[in-house]
Amino acid sequence: MSAVSMDVIVSLCKRRGFVFQSSEIYGGTGSCWDYGPLGVELRNNIKRIWWRDFVHQRDDMVGLDASILMHPTVWKASGHVDNFTDPMVDCRECKRRFRADQAGTMDWTHYCPATKGNKFTIKGGEPCKHCGARRTLCPECGKGELTAPRQFNLMFKTFMGPVEEDAALTYLRPETAQGIFVNFDNVLQATRRKLPFGIAQIGKAFRNEITPGNFIFRSREFEQMEIEFFVNPHDRLEGRPADEAWHDRWIADCQSWFTRYGLDPANVKLHEHLGDELAHYSKRTVDLLYRFPMGWNELMGIANRTDFDLKQHAKFSGKSLTWFDEERKEHVVPFVIEPSAGVDRALLAFLLDAYREEEVRGDKRVVLRFHSELAPIKIAVLPLLKKRPEIVAAGHDLRHRLTRRWLTLYDDTAAIGRLYRRQDEVGTPYCVTVDVKTVGDPEKGEAGDGKVTIRERDTMQQIRVPIAELEHVFGRLLDAGTPWSEVAAGYPRAEG
Ligand code: ATP
Repeated sequence: MSAVSMDVIVSLCKRRGFVFQSSEIYGGTGSCWDYGPLGVELRNNIKRIWWRDFVHQRDDMVGLDASILMHPTVWKASGHVDNFTDPMVDCRECKRRFRADQAGTMDWTHYCPATKGNKFTIKGGEPCKHCGARRTLCPECGKGELTAPRQFNLMFKTFMGPVEEDAALTYLRPETAQGIFVNFDNVLQATRRKLPFGIAQIGKAFRNEITPGNFIFRSREFEQMEIEFFVNPHDRLEGRPADEAWHDRWIADCQSWFTRYGLDPANVKLHEHLGDELAHYSKRTVDLLYRFPMGWNELMGIANRTDFDLKQHAKFSGKSLTWFDEERKEHVVPFVIEPSAGVDRALLAFLLDAYREEEVRGDKRVVLRFHSELAPIKIAVLPLLKKRPEIVAAGHDLRHRLTRRWLTLYDDTAAIGRLYRRQDEVGTPYCVTVDVKTVGDPEKGEAGDGKVTIRERDTMQQIRVPIAELEHVFGRLLDAGTPWSEVAAGYPRAEG
């Protein structure tokens, strides 16, 4: 298990080009983030494997890409206009705004009367150890009273068309799910699917969170990977209602997906929504929690939304949103199982879990032990001597050939040890070095052996491989998932 702090990850992300603060040169926004050259690759890899595993590789799934701006009645029908709110409180002094349910757990500022008004920052929920007082004032400035809680709608409003009037009011979608529900019948007609089947979508969502924070964990613009899986509630599966059995299957599939791509199972656990926590439309909701540096928090949710959404949209649109059950000769409104994950939270969890600091021959090595499917760069080609044009040319040639199948980078801007460390720090699983032996020395009449060295990131082992076999070797390692030990056993070890 890695126990890295958020500050270390934030700084690595900025330094190496994973994540930048949005609009940083203007002081930043604090609630939105930009993904840099490596971040965009990591993000795309997460989305690509999620889509491949949950859409392409299953017989019961199809995809959709709905627009962000939708008819405003969608949000009335879904309940978002009336219920998508958080209780907020304002500080009467500094005017800062907090989520009412979070003010009590935040670290708080206290001017302690027992120590002549000295200023202290006290851990959330704890009393001052000098005067025993508990927080009643603003946790941030420590001076202002907080207002009574008021409901605050988290949807961003905007206007569709050239006139800013109420009739043109709509919203940036706060979730991708509704785009799927309103297209249920379109997809059904176009694909002739039978229940059970699911529709997946990856896309941006926007929430005007009162207290965004913890880096990319909670931002105002983020991306979701959502599935709405439609089940006939009259069917039975494994001796119980089919929706309940499918719900458990999806929980297990989602959990094992995250651990398959690198999350330590000890850092992942399930949380069952009980009592008031359970949304009014949900029969059962289970969150997948990850042990983030700030504690256990939601990575994704898997809800049984029943027939709530389809019924609401049928009611508001006047269109029937049912499926005809040929066997029972009846129209049914399917129940919906919704696995809903955030791309940004997944990316943060994968980064945190991959991070290691190791000692190698007295030096500190930082390494991101990404699963090779997630690694932004798969192969780095590094010339051992950049003064030799034949080595440089061979390196460029290799990069061009390999990058057609796996993102490959060429770097000759430092000595080899440094280059390896740089690639370790961004999680590149394999480095290929081209050296004097590869190309030979025409002046001395020495022919090259046409072989290069492959170095593996985690073991740091090196093997000598003929250039002609490189694509075959990387095909086994990166496409077929053959373990390094098995591939390496077929080649001579190179000097470390
Ligand atoms: P939370 O309780 O943390 O606000 P939620 O229960 O409102 O989350 P859902 O509506 O279930 O979240 O959204 C599904 C997923 O979308 C979440 O599990 C999370 O991964 C992601 N997500 C939701 N809100 C945000 C946000 N503000 N920033 C980043 N990701 C988010």
